[in-house]
Amino acid sequence: MKIFAPSETDPIETRAALDPAAVKKLVGLGADVTVEAGIGARCDHSDATYEAAGARISGDRTAALREADLVIRVRKPPVEEIAALHAGAIHISFLDPFNEPGLIEAFAKAGVTAISLEMLPRTTLAQKMDAISSQANLAGYVSVIEAAHRMNTILPMMMTPAGTISPAKFFIVGIGVAGLQAIATAKRLGALVTAFDVRAEALEQAESLGAKALRIDLGETGGTDQGYAKQLTPEQLEKQSREQAKVCAQSDVVITTAKVFGRKPPVLIKKEVVASMQPGSIIVDLAAEGGGNVEGVVCGKEVVTDNGVVIIGLANYEGRVSKNATQVYAANLANMIEHFWDKDGKSFRLDPEDVLQKGCVITHGGAVVHERFRPQ
Ligand code: NAD
Repeated sequence: MKIFAPSETDPIETRAALDPAAVKKLVGLGADVTVEAGIGARCDHSDATYEAAGARISGDRTAALREADLVIRVRKPPVEEIAALHAGAIHISFLDPFNEPGLIEAFAKAGVTAISLEMLPRTTLAQKMDAISSQANLAGYVSVIEAAHRMNTILPMMMTPAGTISPAKFFIVGIGVAGLQAIATAKRLGALVTAFDVRAEALEQAESLGAKALRIDLGETGGTDQGYAKQLTPEQLEKQSREQAKVCAQSDVVITTAKVFGRKPPVLIKKEVVASMQPGSIIVDLAAEGGGNVEGVVCGKEVVTDNGVVIIGLANYEGRVSKNATQVYAANLANMIEHFWDKDGKSFRLDPEDVLQKGCVITHGGAVVHERFRPQ
């Protein structure tokens, strides 16, 4: 099977779908691996290291796409590149399928099997391939480092002959994978951390990391069978915003990570709350790319409000640590390919009955096969 990893086309993307270690693993399985020249330029891997790991280097992207049986990337492909793939080819990447009906249609039309990493079921079996988690974990770390870098104060308490410096106060909203890592990172650096999530079990996890849990009685919040939070009612969101406001006003840093699977992230920090915060306070919105949890966030920009609050809304937090982000993303992909590898045929085995594939295969055989994305 010919596997091809092109360079990413989005200028904000610094990660790559493969690193040399993952190439080595795939070559070890018997795959024929090609990467586009320069693929690792923004995550510190030279073409020579990919070559030494067993990959071929291609300078002709279109030809490599045409020949490939399996194409792997980080971000969704430009729609015009889908037509270059041959019918029966497989494509694996993040696809943002809820927002990309045209892309899905193009995959179906080209007869390509498109696998969306966002849709991989979050089961124990799938943990080694769970790219949402591997990237969110690093994004959580980066959110704290970005805040620390931008703050005019330090995180830990310091007792000095010139007086005591108080520890910084962090408030983390949303305690999923990213939120937990943000808590752990802020705690390691000596900050005092308060955290909130609509899921009760997440509050307990935050406490086990040494954070103070903010408890707000929102009534029934529910959850999906995958452990995701459900969308709150407008009344519940209003109550949450109100009760969080005091904690925000007293915090040096607010990090928001709240997402609702398949929907726009909820707006949880309103303008009035931002206006009540102290000058120099920092808000880091990890949901910025999907629309944001914070009123006034601008994706890809840093906004300084009239009262001196800095709102950071990067589009690609994990891309700030691109070497490690690539390492774990590439390992997720290599693990997935290994998991479904047919040793005899030396190819990726598609199985419509497989529970993981049922969750993440969006198009196959010229049609949209995933029930959530089938045209009505
Ligand atoms: P996510 O990125 O979809 O959302 C981040 C957090 O935002 C979640 O904890 C969610 O509860 C929270 N949230 C939603 N609305 C909110 C609101 N109004 N206020 C505050 N917080 C709000 O979540 P994720 O990090 O991808 O994790 C989702 C779930 O999947 C979690 O339960 C996690 O434990 C589970 N998970 C399971 C596995 C596994 O292997 N079994 C692996 C990874 C994640």
